[in-house]
Amino acid sequence: MNNLEQTLSIIKPDAVERNLDTEIKEIFKKKGFLIKKEKKIQIEKIEAEKFYKVHETKPFYNDLCAYLSSGPIVAMVLEKENAVLDNRELMGATDPKDAVEGTIRKKYGISIDKNSVHGSDSLENAKIEIDFFFKD
Ligand code: UDP
Ligand code: MG
Repeated sequence: MNNLEQTLSIIKPDAVERNLDTEIKEIFKKKGFLIKKEKKIQIEKIEAEKFYKVHETKPFYNDLCAYLSSGPIVAMVLEKENAVLDNRELMGATDPKDAVEGTIRKKYGISIDKNSVHGSDSLENAKIEIDFFFKD
């Protein structure tokens, strides 16, 4: 059955700053993800606040938004069958110290806040997040 999906991935400032974006993109490609769209940008804090609105009541919200807007990021639309869940699996657990071997966060993540990548957590949110970065 064809279950082609698109999801939003972000290479976060800690990874872009360490020039890991090319390497991380290669991992996605090797795992069968097509990078349909991508852009390297730096967003304003107010935009990060919109993007992470679902977390607005969390204690880490302010730091998270400050962080995402602290430097360049690479936003990508990834496409493959089961892209949303497969990307979550490839990313690994939110806290790199809980992430399993072979995941991006295990390999590159520094801490729970500097965990190198973002990925949409549902098909519904993927559509919203893709629109957020790539609505023409
Ligand atoms: N985060 C944090 N402290 C926490 C939980 C999350 O700094 O205690 C950050 C972390 O960078 C994470 C982001 O907030 O990637 C969004 O949290 P979420 O629970 O959605 O994790 P994700 O979906 O990114 O795995
Ligand atoms: Mg999330």
